[in-house]
Amino acid sequence: MLYETFEKIYSLEAAGKKITKLNVGEPDWRPPIAAIKAAQNALSKGKDKYGSSYGELTLREKLAQLHGCSAKNIVITPGSKWGVYSLLRLHLSAGDNAVVFSPHWSAYSLMCQSFGTEARLVNLKMENGWKPDLCALASAIDSKTKMLVLNSPCNPTSAAFSEGDERKIIEIVRDRGVTVLSDDAYRGLLFEKRKDRLLEENLLIANTFSKTFGMTGWRIGYAVVPEEIAKKMVSLNQITFTNVPLFIQAGAEKALEDKEKFAAKVRKLCVQRAGIATKKLRGHFEFSKPEAGFYLFPKLPDEIDTMKFLDRMLDSGFAMVPGGAFGDFGQHFRVSLCREKETISIACDTMVETLEGFC
Ligand code: PMP
Repeated sequence: MLYETFEKIYSLEAAGKKITKLNVGEPDWRPPIAAIKAAQNALSKGKDKYGSSYGELTLREKLAQLHGCSAKNIVITPGSKWGVYSLLRLHLSAGDNAVVFSPHWSAYSLMCQSFGTEARLVNLKMENGWKPDLCALASAIDSKTKMLVLNSPCNPTSAAFSEGDERKIIEIVRDRGVTVLSDDAYRGLLFEKRKDRLLEENLLIANTFSKTFGMTGWRIGYAVVPEEIAKKMVSLNQITFTNVPLFIQAGAEKALEDKEKFAAKVRKLCVQRAGIATKKLRGHFEFSKPEAGFYLFPKLPDEIDTMKFLDRMLDSGFAMVPGGAFGDFGQHFRVSLCREKETISIACDTMVETLEGFC
């Protein structure tokens, strides 16, 4: 459903309609200028040949420092999507299941389906601020459960589990012999900053340069995993994409040098944008207070048809994603606030007017 929505918008654009794409989870900020220059420089100096399927050692060493491990635990991937995919692929066989909190990024369930496994959804509630339901989690696990996917902060809700809850989750599943895959794509954009997650037993981490650094199209992410899993990932990398281009890795390495300052700047921007949207939409839509990044996941009143609402928004030039793309949340929609403040303001006013048009 997520990807179908994208196609519908592309065809409207091809027909000449101007659409503000609040449907895409893609930062509008530029990557660090020093990263761009480093990539250009590396390219012109001949860093355009094959490379190691682990990734460049110097980049992996820097990432290892952030995650309290050795470079042997780091594998560079083409975006974190490949990291998530390959880790699920390496841990799940047909008939197994992976437990996933929902609402969730639909790629998890589509990936599981693609190799004949079940994504076992544990539905969370907006009324509880999308906090984890630990009892439901414990009862979702059975002998066929091999993984739990943790995505905190979450796409699409922008809710983050508390560090205490994350710890409880990791311990509950560890006791049951289940591995946690933590997709930390939005962790760098937490409004209340936390350090990068450290590698520990039974925990695998996928992370990316896409969101914090606005480097979506560079296609670079990484996995933080035990050495033997790193080796398996590398074997898979060798028979698939080989390596992330070396000049891209050079740019990413440069981006890390100024990570704290850059992240603080974009975090501030996200907080401001979330503030504008929250102020405009509060009292009209129900939604939880965003704790990170750039998504809101508002709920429409029961009597309103989500697809009709989104079609009317599209007629007004704003694209958003129906909640059904993220699980059993058909009364919700996801809006991505990756636009300048004025556009967010107009979009929110249009949402309110469109809602009122149904009354
Ligand atoms: N995880 C989550 C939760 C995401 O929302 C996305 C992108 N939308 C990704 C991973 C993948 O991002 P990338 O492949 O660009 O690193």
